[in-house]
Amino acid sequence: MAGIRTIGVIGAGTMGNGIAHVSARAGLRVLLYDVDNTALYRGLDTIRANMAREVAKQKLTVEEAEEARSRIVLTTSLDDLVPAELVIEAATERFAVKSEIFRGLDRLLPAGAVLASNTSSISITKLAAVTKRPGQVIGMHFFNPVPVMQLVEVIRGLQTTQETLDMVHALAVRLGKTPVEVNDAAGFVSNRVLMPLINEAAYAVMEGVATAEAVDKVFVLGMAHPMGPLTLADFIGLDVCVDIMRVLAEGLGDPKYNPCPLLVRMVDAGWLGRKSRRGFYTYS
Ligand code: NAD
Repeated sequence: MAGIRTIGVIGAGTMGNGIAHVSARAGLRVLLYDVDNTALYRGLDTIRANMAREVAKQKLTVEEAEEARSRIVLTTSLDDLVPAELVIEAATERFAVKSEIFRGLDRLLPAGAVLASNTSSISITKLAAVTKRPGQVIGMHFFNPVPVMQLVEVIRGLQTTQETLDMVHALAVRLGKTPVEVNDAAGFVSNRVLMPLINEAAYAVMEGVATAEAVDKVFVLGMAHPMGPLTLADFIGLDVCVDIMRVLAEGLGDPKYNPCPLLVRMVDAGWLGRKSRRGFYTYS
């Protein structure tokens, strides 16, 4: 199945529109589905704006951008995804939401179709278990912003077949990405290592060891990180960080993964980072 022609993308938010963007640019027909019609059009506007930026940087011609955009079909009906040979789900990070989508896709799509999830932390094995095709369920964890970031963490569930893995590996390469394979465990590799760093940085601020600016400077200047952990936390969303720490704590069964009380308090106050204009820093 090296030559996939039609791909489905579920969710037109931050990640879904990025995945649709890179897929359309790679020549695939993209069926972009969301429950929310407004989210679909907002997603398409973002794709247009991001492609215009690529045109301005001469990475793409105006014609290529227009052709790529015309390969994206918007829909609020799951039935329209039937022609997809592979679907990448990028809906809200809740097991109840994703399992419902996977059940629906499993009922609708032909037996050969592969179901991938862009989840940051939910078990692929558990998602696979709600379907009758667990061998064809896999994780494809893209990074934000999708058109820019190189990595796709490919997550192999307990029952994922080698054929599924090979297909998704080839697709990631076709999208211009570098796949890295990991096994299914809470947080995979990226969030299992990154989130405790962010959490510990929050503890350093909470305990008065240093200011947020000082913590970030240590990582930028001392460890050559492109941005410090607290700047990154604001970018990701502090609510998302807290949710992922809770998944790690539950999945790995170790209290060292409990979210830092300062992070929890900030989320309670509605300080979610960039998206609410206030987190460890303020944004105008
Ligand atoms: P988002 O909130 O920007 O977008 C989610 C979209 O899903 C929304 O448009 C919403 O309308 C839609 N949606 C909700 N329920 C749906 C349903 N039942 N069917 C179809 N669409 C539905 O979220 P996001 O940041 O794009 O995250 C999506 C997924 O990607 C999550 O699993 C998240 O953990 C993962 N992820 C996010 C990032 C990131 O940096 N934002 C990075 C990697 C992975």
